[in-house]
Amino acid sequence: MKRIYFDYAATTPADPEVIKAMLPYFSENFGNPSSLHYFGRQANNAVENARSAAAGFIGAEPEEIIFTSGGTESDNFALKGIAYENSSKGKHIITSNIEHHAILKSCRFLEKNGFKVTYLPVESSGILNPDVVKKAITKDTILISVMHANNEIGSIQPIREIGKIAKESDIYFHVDAVQSFGHIPIRVDDINVDLLSASAHKLYGPKGVGLLYIKKGTRIYPFMNGGDQERKLRASTHNVTGIVGFGKAIELACKNMKSEAEFLIGLRDKLINSVMANIDNVKLNGDNLQRLPNNANFSIRFVEGEGMVLGLDLEGIAVSSGSACTSGSLEPSHVLRAIGRSADLAHGSVRFSLGKFNMGEEIDYALDKFIKIVHKLRKMSPLVK
Ligand code: PLP
Repeated sequence: MKRIYFDYAATTPADPEVIKAMLPYFSENFGNPSSLHYFGRQANNAVENARSAAAGFIGAEPEEIIFTSGGTESDNFALKGIAYENSSKGKHIITSNIEHHAILKSCRFLEKNGFKVTYLPVESSGILNPDVVKKAITKDTILISVMHANNEIGSIQPIREIGKIAKESDIYFHVDAVQSFGHIPIRVDDINVDLLSASAHKLYGPKGVGLLYIKKGTRIYPFMNGGDQERKLRASTHNVTGIVGFGKAIELACKNMKSEAEFLIGLRDKLINSVMANIDNVKLNGDNLQRLPNNANFSIRFVEGEGMVLGLDLEGIAVSSGSACTSGSLEPSHVLRAIGRSADLAHGSVRFSLGKFNMGEEIDYALDKFIKIVHKLRKMSPLVK
């Protein structure tokens, strides 16, 4: 059966060039970067090259990049590291109510440990109003954490404006850029960001490797205790193959990000326009304009998201009915509820997230199947009068 993948927000396949770059570091270049000898130096050079690529990509200094095991670790590190190191200054953190669970659950953990967290509401477009952030600041606020782009509905936050507010109040600003890194521009030298999380498997790199940008001078508690790796901030032997793959993925993003975004916007808009034109009682979730190039998320009245996902899967088409981390649970998505969707509309959501390996004809094929599946499910639905 022909298989079509429209779940790039969950994870991306590694680019063949990424795999090629990684392979020697499993075998002949297997050294531990902490070793002084030839093998160690070889591995260390590869790690430092990747660090320079990552730093250059976002306008940082190489020593401001810490490699981690992924976006979840980077988010945990940023929140807990800042909270513990700066608790004598204050114990208040501001975030939004549409963050990824890596942020929301870290916040819940901190609340249980004496910190106070404000979860700000977003507008119906999924955008956080910077004025709302400004009003939430108290003399106790030490950190603002806001995602760059939402993983479910693709809405892009005004992080430049929020960063300005954080800077004026001398508060640390963390950005979870896991979904945007490598897909839309972000320069830490251009906007006020103190910490930024990214993850390789969202930009055609390997799974299990990420980074945290930490601006020079930031006071942060080390996340892992042990060896002296990563400026004593994150112990453990480096994931050399993963880091090399991440570096290569960043190099490719540097070259291709603009043309890829243009290509994906074309596919995305074709998909959105056709779904809106051919299916009634459908709502597009997320902002019309401030949206990731690859994201199309719909709520379809009178059908269940799971039904659409399974129906499409039977036709060889992979989509998601929420974020990969929450699918499988019966709880409606916290993001869709936060933008004001009813429980029914939240349950009836489907996310298409596109990628560079998709082709125009795949959109046509999927549209045809999708429209038929929705009509079939509606015929069977007891909710349709
Ligand atoms: N933050 C966001 C916005 C995400 O979309 C994800 C993963 O989907 C994560 C964090 C977690 O990243 P990782 O899978 O690398 O742990």
